[in-house]
Amino acid sequence: MRSRSIVTAAILVTFASVTMEAQAQQPTAPDFNVVTLGTGSPPPTLKRFGPATLVRAGRETLLFDAGRGATQRLMQTGVRLGSIDAVFITHLHSDHIVGIPDLWLTGWLPTAYAQRQSPFRIWGPAGTKGMMDGLEQAYAWDIQARTADQNLPKAGVAIEATEISEGVVYERNGVKVTAFEVDHGPLLKPAFGYRIDYDGRSVVISGDTKFSENLIKFASGVDLLIHQVAMAKEELLQTSIIVRAILAHHTKPEEAGVVFTRSKPKLAVFYHIVLQGTPQFPAPTEDDVVNKTRTTYSGPPVVSEDLMSFNVDKTGVSIVPPK
Ligand SMILES: [Zn+2]
Ligand SMILES: [Zn+2]
Repeated sequence: MRSRSIVTAAILVTFASVTMEAQAQQPTAPDFNVVTLGTGSPPPTLKRFGPATLVRAGRETLLFDAGRGATQRLMQTGVRLGSIDAVFITHLHSDHIVGIPDLWLTGWLPTAYAQRQSPFRIWGPAGTKGMMDGLEQAYAWDIQARTADQNLPKAGVAIEATEISEGVVYERNGVKVTAFEVDHGPLLKPAFGYRIDYDGRSVVISGDTKFSENLIKFASGVDLLIHQVAMAKEELLQTSIIVRAILAHHTKPEEAGVVFTRSKPKLAVFYHIVLQGTPQFPAPTEDDVVNKTRTTYSGPPVVSEDLMSFNVDKTGVSIVPPK
């Protein structure tokens, strides 16, 4: 007996030292990661899906906006649809919310990629509850059918909607989400941006906004600032009332540069990229956006792509390009 226990102990020691060695060799997994799932705006293109940003911080998996294709992009990241802890909406323009019913209902299915067992939890501006009530009505047949026919848990399709005002809206497992008002135009209120704080590091997502002093206040000294941008050539702006109106609700590259210069993020990233053009006056390029931004900002702004990933580490922010 004695010799057997000595052998067992020796095996355990060997196993433990191998495990420790393997752990020492492996880089620590990022504990604060952001993926720009969708970086587009209303145009239904394959290159840029609708606005949606995944934030994983510690044990929390959070989604900010759910534009067109958010569910497909989440699948591409390998995140189980039913594992999203909370969804936050910046404002109720359709390009930011059109993906909600897909994520809500597809995330409820019993398949391995979904399997939500607890309510779909969503935070957003005034009007969010009414919107979710309307979705429950619109999809009543599906909910009734799958509950009766497939025995899916009612709890997994239930909705908990919270309407927010400026301030801390969520705090769990060391992750704090703060909503702050932005300026999307006088008739488009309320519109919010969000700041996510975790373990001494922070990320800000602008939502849709014109140049916003309040955003600069909340983004001051942030690690990663994800900001929207809109641009059109001067000739088009002079001839098109529609394009002028679109740009009047958004931030131009040279204005975003001022935001970056004053808030001093470790990394400034563009998403919700609105580039207006016509056959006569083609849309500006991403290089045009960067060049204009650099007239007011000396740092390098990153024009994100769908599925670009950012690790917010204590030493800085690193970029992992899409696969
Ligand atoms: Zn938008
Ligand atoms: Zn909008």
